[in-house]
Amino acid sequence: MNGRLRGISARFERWLLAAATCVATACGPFSQLFKVVSEGDSRELRVRLAGQAAHSSAGAPLLILALDGMGRDLLYSMLEHGDLPELGALLGREGAAFPHAYFVPNLTTTLPSTTGAVWASMFTGATPAQNGFTGNEFFVREKRQFAAPIPVSVHASAQALSVFTEGYANQFLCSPTIYEVMRKREPTIDIWVSMSQFYDGADRLLMTRRSVLGTALEAFLSGHTEKNLPRAVWADLDKEDIEVVVERLGREQIPDVLTVYLFGTDNWAHIAPEGPDRARRSYMMEVVDPAIGTLRKRLVASNAWRDRYVVVTGDHGHTEVIKDEAHALSIAADSDPPAVLSKAGYRVRPFEGEVKDSDAFQSVLAYQGAMAYVYLADRSTCRDGTAPCDWTRPPRYTEDVLPVADAFYRNNLDGSLVPGMKGTLDLIFTRRPVPVPQVDRPFEVYVGDGNTEPLDAYLRNKPRPTYVAFDSRLRELASGPHGERAGDVLLLAHNGDRENPEERYYFATPYHSWHGSPSRQDSLIPLIVARPEKTTTELDEIVQSYLGRSEDGFFHAEGVGALLVGLRGGRTSQIRPLPPRR
Ligand SMILES: [Zn+2]
Repeated sequence: MNGRLRGISARFERWLLAAATCVATACGPFSQLFKVVSEGDSRELRVRLAGQAAHSSAGAPLLILALDGMGRDLLYSMLEHGDLPELGALLGREGAAFPHAYFVPNLTTTLPSTTGAVWASMFTGATPAQNGFTGNEFFVREKRQFAAPIPVSVHASAQALSVFTEGYANQFLCSPTIYEVMRKREPTIDIWVSMSQFYDGADRLLMTRRSVLGTALEAFLSGHTEKNLPRAVWADLDKEDIEVVVERLGREQIPDVLTVYLFGTDNWAHIAPEGPDRARRSYMMEVVDPAIGTLRKRLVASNAWRDRYVVVTGDHGHTEVIKDEAHALSIAADSDPPAVLSKAGYRVRPFEGEVKDSDAFQSVLAYQGAMAYVYLADRSTCRDGTAPCDWTRPPRYTEDVLPVADAFYRNNLDGSLVPGMKGTLDLIFTRRPVPVPQVDRPFEVYVGDGNTEPLDAYLRNKPRPTYVAFDSRLRELASGPHGERAGDVLLLAHNGDRENPEERYYFATPYHSWHGSPSRQDSLIPLIVARPEKTTTELDEIVQSYLGRSEDGFFHAEGVGALLVGLRGGRTSQIRPLPPRR
């Protein structure tokens, strides 16, 4: 049992209690409440030594605006149509044109196209298999630890909140953040991060009141509806996020690097009954754009806009799904993915943030929307269930891995194990496991009878026209020093390959919208780089020089990390996107 997490859990309960008490009694005079809002629960992460410079002048100042759940097409078209006047002004819009901004046309997410994996890649400049952050939740087998920084299958709101209060997400990164890379070159650089999951190396984490955030996260993970979790909850959190930043900027020197992360766009899109496109459009126009206006005006008033790079990006698109148990491949023991595992003879890890050290589970599921990971134990270490499995060892390919790939494959064809899951999967992947410290092999497509095929060869015969940069991104997820964190068997649901929401499935509890697939819609993301002193052509050249190679026609998310470090004048030592296998 992890004592540290027990501590987090207890503290989290106290915050919830405090939040509930405060609402019930309308505690405190207004002035006090206002003070709490404007400060939030920000934290100083570094102490500046006496006599040390407050800033670094080695590179251009940088504002990174990170919009969770905003895909490329939606954001670009809203900006081009003038629907976001404040964001447009921040990007130096003149009339209908953006003469001082470059809109990158061909940037893709990581696979899966889910929040945790994408931002980890962007904020480290490394692929998931290199940085070890393979999804919203994943299993760290050598520590027997289920990481749930952005929980999907487990009800782990304490872990989700501790991302901000305890650096819970930072601790799973196996690569340095862009902030650490910048600081190595510029020891006095001043970096502020607001509400982003990754902030190792920053000076300060700005955040909203954790009591309010905690209550919202708890509601999101436990039977949310648009009624008990209305848009106003996310709107207030995002507005407060920017309010905390603007208030600090007004009374302190503007930092060299400022990252502002807004997450309401994504959370609201998941649960909004009107569907993800209408939900995000109105949320951007009515909530995000006016809030960005206050930030823009503060930067302009402080003479801190004209020489600053403004980088606007997002982590994934959204795909509408049906909110019911039939389309949600969820956690029910008799009708969902765990049922396939248990019928195939595997004890399944309970869907909890933590389980007892003595639990003898032989398989673990981690959900990423359109994808799911299955981790398997060497069952010879725990056959009778009296002692826990030895998860430091890899599973055996023939005895432990192939039976699971085959069970999902056969059930997908005939529903013989779990009828409700028949025909829900597009592809099932597996590979020969290697010991944890070794570089993992790429996934191959399981084609039945114990056989696999390389994905590029498979796609030549059975193309998936809606999927983009599929083969290269799957290798970046799975093949590298920490590729085992993407599991031994990977399931891809029919979702991004289907036009009709009725025919789409997703690994999560029921929602109105999800993402995670290799589809164009989920995977193409915005990246806009602007600076009033530069022309579009100059910015285009700068951006292309940092984004890395693009042999498959797309830039990949990890290139954004190299770009951000590059805009400060540095270079990441991280490995660039892998070239496609010939
Ligand atoms: Zn999401």
